[in-house]
Amino acid sequence: MSYPAEPFRIKSVETLTLLSKEERVKKIISAGYNTFLLNSRDVYIDLLTDSGTNAMSDKQWAGIMLGDEAYAGSENFFHLESTVQELFGFRYLVPTHQGRGAENLLSQVAITPGQFVAGNMYFTTTRYHQEKNGAVFVDVIRDEAHDASAILPFKGDIDLSKLETLIEDKGANNIAYVCLAVTVNMAGGQPVSMSNMRAVRALTQRHGIKVYYDATRCVENAYFIREREAGYENTPISDIFHEMFSYADGCTMSGKKDCLVNIGGFLCMNDEKLFGAVRELVVVYEGMPSYGGLAGRDMEAMAIGLREAMQFEYIEHRVKQVRYLGDKLKAAGIPIVEPVGGHAVFLDARRFCPHLQQEQLPAQSLAASIYVETGVRAMERGIVSSGRNKETGENYHPKLETVRLTIPRRVYTYAHMDRVADGIIELFNRRENIRGLRFIYEPKQLRFFTARFEYL
Ligand SMILES: *Cc1c(COP(=O)(O)O)cnc(C)c1O
Repeated sequence: MSYPAEPFRIKSVETLTLLSKEERVKKIISAGYNTFLLNSRDVYIDLLTDSGTNAMSDKQWAGIMLGDEAYAGSENFFHLESTVQELFGFRYLVPTHQGRGAENLLSQVAITPGQFVAGNMYFTTTRYHQEKNGAVFVDVIRDEAHDASAILPFKGDIDLSKLETLIEDKGANNIAYVCLAVTVNMAGGQPVSMSNMRAVRALTQRHGIKVYYDATRCVENAYFIREREAGYENTPISDIFHEMFSYADGCTMSGKKDCLVNIGGFLCMNDEKLFGAVRELVVVYEGMPSYGGLAGRDMEAMAIGLREAMQFEYIEHRVKQVRYLGDKLKAAGIPIVEPVGGHAVFLDARRFCPHLQQEQLPAQSLAASIYVETGVRAMERGIVSSGRNKETGENYHPKLETVRLTIPRRVYTYAHMDRVADGIIELFNRRENIRGLRFIYEPKQLRFFTARFEYL
């Protein structure tokens, strides 16, 4: 396996600091063992998320100076609109402050209370907005996606028979839409194959059901198709991308991931009536339809970033740098979710901490221990992130109990990945010292962001 050198050189740098272990212990206690509550200045290598942590290019920074900060009809809106129309192929675009702004709008206009939304595994904010608007979310991802050690090229695929059964059981009229995520964040950044997208389209079209993509990591998904799906070996990323979206009625996008910016998002669609409804709503939550909560300069940076993300050298390095970290951990016997996905390496906390029960929050505790041992910040993606069932108040018990090491785009080098791997390998050798946690403060929604814990 070869890993390509960074396809960029560094023009501006930020200094990193590493606190002593004694200081890190104090910091994690005052953060209530929640890595979301650490201050950035106390973190050495920050792998909390790849969201909004991208390094922008010289061209994007130059684009910032082209910001047209008019209240309405900004030049940068038209640049973003034409870029998205060309690359995605959708007719209408509404910018939003970030992905969840788009999810809020789509969920409000496309869901009638009591309907079902089918999706390939849930995402936290996406499901929140769907449920808030009265939908019941049904996971129709293939079974293997819930198995950390099942090695498959397209673990994010929808199980068509699950989707078909749902349509038969509930009736097509009671399905608001299919929400297809490319790639699937919660399954470990696993991609969806083109043949699956095509088949989902064919099945839903027969029943008159709409398909909206969660396009957050769509460029990474396009790379995996080129790498793994027969017939696409030599297809340009932009062509793969275009075909992917030809099977959708629209999409929500978090620009903070694959648009290579620090803030932004948008909602796309082809349906004129839906667009009309969205335009009426966006002014309530985001702003005028031509800025949607963004400055003109943000839209400019997003338009430029989207094109940069399509460059083969960029996306190949991106995916392979993540894989480098995964390969290194795997070679040392560390249990990870396989195969390694597009944006992160997920540690399998069930196998890392076999001495802890899921109710003892093993992934939460592992993330806290990684910070104490290494200064690296990761996040929990397990029982804490899953939350509780609204009806019963019971904790969801996701099969995947993981810690996510998420790699920001164009920010760190392979040497940083070595430091991360070495620290985790050392911790693994003393893993029986990792203790269980319990909540001392539990917010009602999206609890993982601000919850606090103590050792049992
Ligand atoms: C980040 C993310 C979102 C939400 O986007 P924000 O820009 O953070 O609001 C939605 N879906 C997936 C899969 C994500 O990773």
